Amino acid sequence: MDLSRRSFLKTGVAGAVGLSALGFDLQPLQAQSSSLKISRTSQTRSTCPYCSVSCGIIIHTIGDGAKNVTPQVVHVEGDPDHPINRGTLCPKGASLLQDIVNDRRLLKPQVRRPGSDHWEDIPWDQAIDEIATRTKALRDADFIEQDKNGKTVNRWESMAFAGGCTDTNEFNYLVVKSMRSMGVTCLENQARV
Ligand code: SF4
Repeated sequence: MDLSRRSFLKTGVAGAVGLSALGFDLQPLQAQSSSLKISRTSQTRSTCPYCSVSCGIIIHTIGDGAKNVTPQVVHVEGDPDHPINRGTLCPKGASLLQDIVNDRRLLKPQVRRPGSDHWEDIPWDQAIDEIATRTKALRDADFIEQDKNGKTVNRWESMAFAGGCTDTNEFNYLVVKSMRSMGVTCLENQARV
């Protein structure tokens, strides 16, 4: 039988209409087909990272816990129990799946050296060592013990820290403790939650 895409669709539609006309209730079938995608997923609550509104999301992952299976995120939706968005998402949040499952997603630290025209991948250990080295050098150079009136201030004005809306309270607590201990006064966060 020579079955083109058009005739296949026509056959399918005609079949569905025919079944419906014969008195079959197709609604359970349609409901079942739309729920198949998330029927065997595990759910993880998280926060949309795109803007300071900080909408709550539910990430559906398939394959969790099974041997020889790589977990795969298959769906992201608004969290109906979240007090900020109550299940709604704007178009950016609604497309979060494309952010999570994306070949261009950065998974390694990158550095662009002075004068270079490209970014290079570096190992995590090297990235942490380089950040620590530069942080100490900058603090040693710029730390202010006393202001011009001789008042002790112990501050470091050439360093700033900016957090994001997905940072937890615990993370932010540690950020403030560690940054303040070094004398950093410029702390900011994208979110107002
Ligand atoms: S879903 Fe939209 S409004 Fe909500 S945090 Fe994400 S980007 Fe902001």
